[in-house]
Amino acid sequence: MTTTPHPLVTRARHLARELLLPHAERVDQEGLPPGHLAAVRESGLLGVSAPEEYGGAGAPDAVAREVQEILAGACGSTWFVQTQHHTPVRLLARSELPVRERLLRPLATGELMAGIAYAHVRAFPRVPVRATAERGGWRFDGTVPWYTGWGLNDVMLLAGVTEAAELVFAFTEAREQPGLRASPPMRLAALTAARTVSLELDGLRVPEESVVLRTARERFALVDIPRGANASPAVFGVAYAALRLLDDNPGARETARALRGRLDEVRRRAYALADHPVPREHIEERLELRTRAFDLMRAATTAAVVAGGGRSMSLDSPAQRLAREGMFLLIQGLTAPVREAQLAALAPTYT
Ligand SMILES: Cc1cc2nc3c(=O)[nH]c(=O)nc-3n(C[C@H](O)[C@H](O)[C@H](O)COP(=O)(O)OP(=O)(O)OC[C@H]3O[C@@H](n4cnc5c(N)ncnc54)[C@H](O)[C@@H]3O)c2cc1C
Repeated sequence: MTTTPHPLVTRARHLARELLLPHAERVDQEGLPPGHLAAVRESGLLGVSAPEEYGGAGAPDAVAREVQEILAGACGSTWFVQTQHHTPVRLLARSELPVRERLLRPLATGELMAGIAYAHVRAFPRVPVRATAERGGWRFDGTVPWYTGWGLNDVMLLAGVTEAAELVFAFTEAREQPGLRASPPMRLAALTAARTVSLELDGLRVPEESVVLRTARERFALVDIPRGANASPAVFGVAYAALRLLDDNPGARETARALRGRLDEVRRRAYALADHPVPREHIEERLELRTRAFDLMRAATTAAVVAGGGRSMSLDSPAQRLAREGMFLLIQGLTAPVREAQLAALAPTYT
């Protein structure tokens, strides 16, 4: 039985085929041209999970995942900048604070694009960014080690930890301002084009009206750790993109067929668990599937490099780009349990 794809899936495929894929190697080397993110903003994809009454599509999570797979498989840098946007949208949609009325619609329609600066709160009891209550708002001090999309997105979801171990999530403009300085964009093994910087915060002031969430750190970890155990759609997107390269190579088709069968199975099970109504259940199985998805992605991208031979080392080869982008996915959103599961799975079992 075939079903008609969701209009946003059709739009994502069109964008991938017509714009992202043809330029992916050049973007990887030279940076994101403004047209790429303009096309993403106009496509409606930024509002895929946003409520319809705020101008979003209110699409099911399955649609949001498929969109992420398609974009990640086409151009890692474009995917990476836009994927940051969806957490702020989801957080605003759940919030009852005034900032929801100010920001949810422009983020849902793509008028504004958001980045995130909160992975550092997972380092607790280390506190890279301190939030302190001060005269009708908050001040933030410290270092955000990673912020992607600098100069490309408009607003940032920033988190800091208070003395009482409470997390404060608030929006601020993603530009230099008193109390906020950015490093030059980093040169990285992958996704340099996504413009990742570190941010120095020295008394950055954010008014109370810009706060979207305050929550105890332990409460946040209760949600964050199970969520982080799920396999990322981008991993499947990169893996399938590598398999498509193998399909074009007669000597590699059998490898592609075998890997695709396993990948389909892991994807089906991982997404069934992602849709499970109790996110805190089946953590072991989620972690195992996440780890297997990584294994298959690594096998697929490695096979694409091997199948391409020496040409794979050329910077205009898609195989090496996918292998490098896949390497980044191994550490994206890393939590302690995910790190542990991955390292355990990588220990050789032979003697
Ligand atoms: C190119 C790039 C861009 C990024 N962009 C963003 C962004 O825009 N926004 C954002 O918020 N984040 C961003 N990140 C952060 C990213 O999502 C990950 O959270 C981060 O890379 C994890 O690695 P780390 O070195 O920062 O953390 P680490 O300090 O390595 O910690 C990772 C996890 O492992 C645990 N851990 C650390 N050391 C140990 C150990 N010895 N034993 C057991 N557990 C340990 C920590 O508790 C933590 O949960 C980016 C990262 C990169 C590389």
